[in-house]
Amino acid sequence: MMIRFAIVPLLLALNFSMCQKHETVSQNGQPASASSPTPGAATAGGSPGVAPVAASPKIKKPVVDQTAQTIIFCYHLLVDKVRYPGTEITPAAFEAQMKELKDRGITVISMQDLLAWKRGEKNIPPRCAVITFDDGYKSQYEVAWPILKKYGYPFTMFIYTEGVRGGALGGGGAITWEQLADMRDNGVDIEAHSATHQDLREGHTITLASPGGKKTRTKLTGPQYEQWVQNEVVGCKQLLEQRLGIKINCFAVPFGNYNEHVKELARNAGYEAMFTVYGQPITFTSPMDSIGRYAIEANKPKVFEDAIKMIGASTSGGAPVAEVGAADLATQPADGETVRTALPLIKANLSAIGQIEPGSVQMRVSGLGVVPATYDPKTGTVSYQVTQKLREKSCSVFVSAKSQGKKVEAHWTFGIEESAARPAPPAAPTPKK
Ligand SMILES: [Zn+2]
Repeated sequence: MMIRFAIVPLLLALNFSMCQKHETVSQNGQPASASSPTPGAATAGGSPGVAPVAASPKIKKPVVDQTAQTIIFCYHLLVDKVRYPGTEITPAAFEAQMKELKDRGITVISMQDLLAWKRGEKNIPPRCAVITFDDGYKSQYEVAWPILKKYGYPFTMFIYTEGVRGGALGGGGAITWEQLADMRDNGVDIEAHSATHQDLREGHTITLASPGGKKTRTKLTGPQYEQWVQNEVVGCKQLLEQRLGIKINCFAVPFGNYNEHVKELARNAGYEAMFTVYGQPITFTSPMDSIGRYAIEANKPKVFEDAIKMIGASTSGGAPVAEVGAADLATQPADGETVRTALPLIKANLSAIGQIEPGSVQMRVSGLGVVPATYDPKTGTVSYQVTQKLREKSCSVFVSAKSQGKKVEAHWTFGIEESAARPAPPAAPTPKK
């Protein structure tokens, strides 16, 4: 104590402004009536450069509301006289729906904001909608866009590249590359919807257009199919990226017809999200490779109303969760570490989070669910000795706790050496060359 008291006046003399900051912190954190023994002790308690004692959680990601829900709409053509109600809607009906979203307090967010929320990087309001257009029609540019501008709504265009004007399938109603560039320049999100808009599964009947314009119905298998589907999934992305100078991270699957192989191709090509037309509310845990959209058709006005009802009843405003980096919790095993036992001791030190409500600490382990972990309030350590062999090669741990009424969560993943996770082979592993 003597040494500390000696240092304080020296610091005061050295850097007045720094001490002013300290004084402000001390005053805010501890009013004059606080129980600190002397005014000097409060200042001396925290040396310069060290955070005040009541440190706030080291939040690595913004607080995101994991209970938020989003519905995604998929539109096609806007026409005054509906002849094909499966893909068409009148501008008046479309505008009425845009207004209804506003009237019902549903926030229209961009696709990229939805994905950022899914990554835990950005918060979104509790009830949201994303608007998308498929195929690339000029009525989307000429009719839909002005309506969306009026409401200030962002939206996404899913384009199949041969359907753009000038492409093998780009007829009179098709959007042009110039119109797409104009949309891009004004912040419209442009994403991929294949090259020729067909069933992407191997062995399904497709139409091939020869350069001369002749069309052939056929079923492709083997290497021929692989080459074709590569162009549908990867080629289309590259073409859009090159023609428009953009980054594509979304793939809308034509008719929603795909399978694991197509998903793998898309993932390898760098798509972050894949979309179908099987509408459902999107939650924080919805899988990224099958995000459902509500296809809005003139002959099924109920789809729109039903979609709105799906999130209308949701209980909004759930407790936000603050994400804490696993490295700050000195976890054991560490994030990314590989252990040689399928029965590890799992530990994390929660003292970096701040004051923990002891009864609120919970640990989840992938493959096991919630485990009976023990929390020691003295050391701030939560630990669990795994008693049942972990079967997977990697294990994710989720630790959550309440601190000052707020839920805080950390998660990390460690690896388990294969020989430990499975029954040990008789021979010793040979070192790799
Ligand atoms: Zn389509």
